[in-house]
Amino acid sequence: SQRTLVLIKPDATRRGLVGEVLSRFEAKGLTIVAMEQRLIDAAQADAHYHEHVEKDFYPPLRDFVTSGPLVALVLEGDEAIEVVRALNGATDGRKAAPGTIRGDLSLSNRENLVHGSDSPESAAREIALWFPGL
Ligand code: ATP
Repeated sequence: SQRTLVLIKPDATRRGLVGEVLSRFEAKGLTIVAMEQRLIDAAQADAHYHEHVEKDFYPPLRDFVTSGPLVALVLEGDEAIEVVRALNGATDGRKAAPGTIRGDLSLSNRENLVHGSDSPESAAREIALWFPGL
């Protein structure tokens, strides 16, 4: 069994889709190990997205992820990292496959509803960042 860090981003909160997104993870069989709604500041956004801070798309991404409450969670299950990324779908909601969270619910490359850790190393780092007590 494996753990992964998931963010249900502020667009989901704003659109009333937190329950819908969470339902998909639960229905898949993943276990919620930790979950908290947070309003983050720029420093937390930079720490989370440290590999993107120098990129052109980052300033608007930082504004977006700090624009309202998000829900951070740790999910656990067999191959949870890969399973969550498959459920999330491709980064760009316009290109993500139907049946995925982004493919069904997002029409944006930035406001794409969810984040999921992309490797065991990222998951460990991100879980420690968001839930230092775990
Ligand atoms: P995540 O890491 O959030 O699960 P991802 O791995 O599919 O998504 P990354 O390439 O790590 O995507 O980018 C992180 C986030 O930055 C994306 O989820 C999206 O919100 C935003 N993003 C990435 N590329 C772009 C872009 N070209 N234009 C606008 N926003 C972008």
